[in-house]
Amino acid sequence: MNFPKSTDVIIIGGGLVGCSVGYQLAKRGRDVIILEMRNLASGASGRNGGMVTQLDGRDKNKEAILNRLNYTRENNKMLAGLAEELSYDFEYNRCGGIDIACSEEEWEYFKKLVPFQKEVGDEEVILVDKQQLKDLCSLLSDIVWGARYRPTDGTLNPFKLNIGFALAAKKYKAKVFTETKIEKIVIKHGTAIGVETNNGYIQANLIINAANAWAPLLIPEIDILPLRQVAVVTERIPELPVYSFEAIIDRQVIFGSTQQKSGNLLVGGLGTQARKREDHYKEDLSPYEIEGSTAIFNILFKGLGDVNIIRSWAGTMAFTADGLPCIGPIPQIQGLYIVAGFSNGMAFAPIIGKLVAEDLTQGKPSITLKPFNPERFYNKKISWPDSYNYTVLAEFLERK
Ligand SMILES: Cc1cc2nc3c(=O)[nH]c(=O)nc-3n(C[C@H](O)[C@H](O)[C@H](O)COP(=O)(O)OP(=O)(O)OC[C@H]3O[C@@H](n4cnc5c(N)ncnc54)[C@H](O)[C@@H]3O)c2cc1C
Repeated sequence: MNFPKSTDVIIIGGGLVGCSVGYQLAKRGRDVIILEMRNLASGASGRNGGMVTQLDGRDKNKEAILNRLNYTRENNKMLAGLAEELSYDFEYNRCGGIDIACSEEEWEYFKKLVPFQKEVGDEEVILVDKQQLKDLCSLLSDIVWGARYRPTDGTLNPFKLNIGFALAAKKYKAKVFTETKIEKIVIKHGTAIGVETNNGYIQANLIINAANAWAPLLIPEIDILPLRQVAVVTERIPELPVYSFEAIIDRQVIFGSTQQKSGNLLVGGLGTQARKREDHYKEDLSPYEIEGSTAIFNILFKGLGDVNIIRSWAGTMAFTADGLPCIGPIPQIQGLYIVAGFSNGMAFAPIIGKLVAEDLTQGKPSITLKPFNPERFYNKKISWPDSYNYTVLAEFLERK
């Protein structure tokens, strides 16, 4: 395929979000090109735990809760029919998800948080005590006190969902170019007119930055922080029921663990050694990090001491000041749109692709995208902690 000179829409980033937006726009008749600097799903989308967690974070704040649930509940509905729509199985399993309290303090907090969530309209969430939790997952150790349980959370194979969207986009004539890095977005008289890449220049009517953690390298006016996380996969554990779970152990947030269809246990979000902003883009793993991951693993599960870890990796997700992504036109620049800042994209990417395409083709999405307006961060520099990891950021923003 010849490298094009011009197109209607350029999407920067071939992750789950870029491909979801690309599919929905191509389906609506736009002429789309997805440009990815490495391979499809080579960023966070091919490196995550696959948990579909409708309400991440433990905020006791009505607005924060609804700003996530209003979209993630719709996302869940969409996921139910998406494999058929895309003609691609991405192993979606609505198996339920548990957010585990590992201390008395957290358990006491959950006893207040869950009734509060119900009061603001989150009817699905259930408080389960230690015994009920152990009935759900017998391999949990005695460190657990109880959990917040959501029966409609689930797991999926993120790599497959990413590829499924890309293939479906291609069916609607979208073009995908990998190993194509955008070096610069070209702006002339306040309008984005094209991109310079390592393969040449492409002119476009609309440029969408879906590079997530890398998005601020191309649009520095929007402050999105890269956040490196590590993940490990064990050999097959037949006895463990399939649940997606999160927990905080030793102030480390473990927010990704699912048992894959094959029976392997994938645990993500374990301690990272990265501290400086630039280190959060490093995707290799140190032996220390694998050891640290194993130690935490053995604290949470009993009887898994002899289970081998067969694979491990790191990946970079994105973090914003309010935990919500940035979606919409970039202020003061025509033709430039951003869809980035996802820390839990599985619960958002499909529905956001649809809403963005509605916004860009009809001028009105079926659910407002206002809570994600990039203006809220535009040119507002945040004094992030100089050295950080997930826990430090969550505490900095009080999103424990
Ligand atoms: C270890 C780990 C565990 C996680 N667990 C979960 C989980 O269980 N559930 C959940 O919902 N979320 C989880 N996440 C987060 C989730 O992976 C992300 O929210 C999601 O993948 C974001 O998708 P994306 O398409 O926006 O970003 P990405 O998949 O990162 O895609 C961005 C793409 O842009 C490309 N790119 C960057 N710069 C350029 C450029 N200049 N030119 C061209 N291309 C460029 C990158 O190569 C990349 O492929 C986890 C993340 C990690 C790292």
